[in-house]
Amino acid sequence: MIEIKDLHKSYKMGSNSLHVLKGINFSVEEGELVAIMGSSGSGKSTLLNILGMLDEADEGEYVLDGIPIKNLNETKAANYRNKFLGFIFQSFNLINYKTALENVALPLYYQKLPRKQRQEKALQYLEQVGLKEWSHHLPSELSGGQKQRVAIARAMVAEPKVLLADELTGALDSTTSYEVMELIQKINDQGNTILVVTHEPDIAQMCKRIVHLKDGVIVKDEKVKQVRAKAHV
Ligand code: ADP
Ligand code: MG
Repeated sequence: MIEIKDLHKSYKMGSNSLHVLKGINFSVEEGELVAIMGSSGSGKSTLLNILGMLDEADEGEYVLDGIPIKNLNETKAANYRNKFLGFIFQSFNLINYKTALENVALPLYYQKLPRKQRQEKALQYLEQVGLKEWSHHLPSELSGGQKQRVAIARAMVAEPKVLLADELTGALDSTTSYEVMELIQKINDQGNTILVVTHEPDIAQMCKRIVHLKDGVIVKDEKVKQVRAKAHV
């Protein structure tokens, strides 16, 4: 599903340059649930943003579902992004003046689906994350955990090939974090490929594989015995 080879990324700041990713190699198969672990500043978000086509590497290869991601024009990149990738962020990134249902339906707008179908499908995904009754509420009327569930439904509604989550439990207390991870595990159980960036070891243990990033390189890549989140809730 994902294959990257010798990926490099630097940020230029004036005359200085910060080498953040220093030759990353790894691949992800369909159906995996992978944690990318590392301390703050280790390059996790940089890597995830490149995988999510929000940013481009300076060097290296990235192949997503058989398609080489390189030198794409904006339109093509946006198309692939909408079709292939679903994003979940620490800060939810919901649109405040839109209801839960409208937020979830938004990615379908770009797929040019008729309005009625958009709403039906969005409602179906809200139901999957246990929020059908909350569909007409605004984000400000939802708890942190509920907001993240809406964001997960929004990430899934266009049926992307890969879900990418950057510190998705970073703004939540432990109990709520585990509830959200229970949902992530359920979605992965259904066969969806998910990458989770986290600096929290207990969250990483709820995945099936942990990739450890340190100073811009992968220092360890291990399969782990998955801890089920339900046991903690
Ligand atoms: P992590 O997500 O692991 O905390 P990041 O990938 O966000 O790490 O950042 C890695 C390093 O790159 C940090 O030192 C950060 O300050 C720097 N960095 C991240 N984004 C930018 C940017 N847009 N411009 C300059 N430096 C950046
Ligand atoms: Mg980060």
